[in-house]
Amino acid sequence: MITATQGVQVTSACGVCGGVLVRDLGRFIDRGLLRWGAEGRCRGCSDAWCETGTGPAPWEIRQALLAEHGAVRLRAVAGDAGLVPVLRALRETYHLSPAEARLRAAELSGAGLVGTSVEMAYLAEGLRRRSVATTLVPVPA
Ligand SMILES: [Zn+2]
Repeated sequence: MITATQGVQVTSACGVCGGVLVRDLGRFIDRGLLRWGAEGRCRGCSDAWCETGTGPAPWEIRQALLAEHGAVRLRAVAGDAGLVPVLRALRETYHLSPAEARLRAAELSGAGLVGTSVEMAYLAEGLRRRSVATTLVPVPA
């Protein structure tokens, strides 16, 4: 079940025939996993492929999504629960070391973490499961 999705279509020259290559790049949450996908097809020849994966998206996909849709900023609202649930959610979501999780947690409760809307929605969901309230706002371009 896909619960959040964001996509962008980009065109470039086909490496096979020089025609117009159309690529659909996207980020989505499927059955609780953060995934990315890329699907390409050429309008001039039969060149076509499809790739997908979990975890961090390839740089190019991330940049294309940020350019098309902008970034969002996620902040954790410090509650009575304190830092521990934030650290647990970060470690579960990103498989971070304790030291890395502490750095991210400090950012999250300070200036906030910035990313694509699906990435930040995924982290917000992990925090919500740990009863940590969050705010999500668009980053002005
Ligand atoms: Zn082609």
